[in-house]
Amino acid sequence: MDDNQDFRREIRAWLAATVTDDLRGAGGAGRENEAFDRRLAFTRRLAAAGWSTLAWPVEHGGQGASLERQVIFHEECAKAGAPSRVDHIGVTMVGPTLIQLGTTRQRERFLPGIAAATELWCQGYSEPGAGSDLAAVATRARLDGDQWVLTGQKVWTSLAHVADWCFVLARTAPPPEGASRHAGLSYLLVPMRQPGVTVRPIRQLTGDSEFNEVFFDSARTDRDLVVGEPGQGWRVAMATLGFERGAATVGQQVGFQRDLDDLVALARRTGAAADPGVRERLTRAWIDLTVLRAHTLRSLSAPPSAGTATVIKLLWSRWRQGLGELAMTVLGPAGVAVVPGDPDVDRWRRLFLFSRADTIYGGSNEIQRGILAERVLGLPRQDRR
Ligand SMILES: Cc1cc2nc3c(=O)[nH]c(=O)nc-3n(C[C@H](O)[C@H](O)[C@H](O)COP(=O)(O)OP(=O)(O)OC[C@H]3O[C@@H](n4cnc5c(N)ncnc54)[C@H](O)[C@@H]3O)c2cc1C
Repeated sequence: MDDNQDFRREIRAWLAATVTDDLRGAGGAGRENEAFDRRLAFTRRLAAAGWSTLAWPVEHGGQGASLERQVIFHEECAKAGAPSRVDHIGVTMVGPTLIQLGTTRQRERFLPGIAAATELWCQGYSEPGAGSDLAAVATRARLDGDQWVLTGQKVWTSLAHVADWCFVLARTAPPPEGASRHAGLSYLLVPMRQPGVTVRPIRQLTGDSEFNEVFFDSARTDRDLVVGEPGQGWRVAMATLGFERGAATVGQQVGFQRDLDDLVALARRTGAAADPGVRERLTRAWIDLTVLRAHTLRSLSAPPSAGTATVIKLLWSRWRQGLGELAMTVLGPAGVAVVPGDPDVDRWRRLFLFSRADTIYGGSNEIQRGILAERVLGLPRQDRR
């Protein structure tokens, strides 16, 4: 325990020395492009100091830190207003996937660049005809000598415009007669900076472009850059999704608490706090966040149980959407007026608009509820075709 307190002091001191005013609070939901270069430099400093890969095993270049320490790290980052990192897709998704399922050569090739944030990654799963129904991916890859050649389109690819590599779910063979559509898919590591890859930004509700369409037009990658066996990529793709959150959720909730505190302060300033409806909603937001945090902490220290991660996703996504809606009520007419340069209006409007996406990405809430219905409650399986 004392060791953990030393650890907390150490990360706190490091953050106090490193998170300068121009970095504090930069990035986050709906602000992925904000101060990007400065956030990249911060991410690299974090990596150089050994904080980035706390959760990775020591033998793969990580710190092998306990869950407790990971939680402390994320809490302290959130409390210090550390800018949001730009390496999360690499560090929390593809890195752990390679550690668990990659070849030695793949690990040696990619883990150092992910850990140092010198190579950034994006996730190439969704397509215009394959989102919730991911097994419908139509991007194809075929072998041509020592390389895979990819043709197809991905969509909603977050950060593709800054990524060096993409992990792509592509069909490399038709499913064998009578087999599920999951067979014949492969998980390929594809370099983004090549003539066969075109990235087209998508403008979002917020006015920003954080995700993209990605077109593969005879794009190439080496034959050995398939993770797992060719045709067995579904299992790998699902493993990646399983790594997506973890201890970082706790840090996210510390950020939520700060958002709520700031909204309470705004409600006092604007006088909205006198409205009984607003007071009730603010109080309810506090209660819900307290419950969410307790549930998350308990679930992190308990053995994994069916549906836990799903329940947390459902709860936090609804919570943040609710906060965005409440912020619009607190702002009143200013929330919908054009008020250039007002940081309050910009911040809350962005949160309100971006949080519409919270119930969609990472598996939409309808899909999550379907998973709970079938896998936890044992209800009859839904006919999807
Ligand atoms: C901000 C953001 C970032 C994203 N980043 C990435 C990324 O980096 N890489 C990536 O690959 N993808 C990314 N996505 C895509 C995301 O994973 C998909 O949007 C999501 O899986 C839903 O797929 P879809 O958009 O095709 O919607 P659809 O699957 O077409 O669903 C449309 C609606 O129908 C509902 N629905 C569908 N099937 C069912 C069902 N069986 N039962 C009940 N309701 C159903 C859905 O819940 C939804 O409301 C991102 C999305 C967002 C919003």
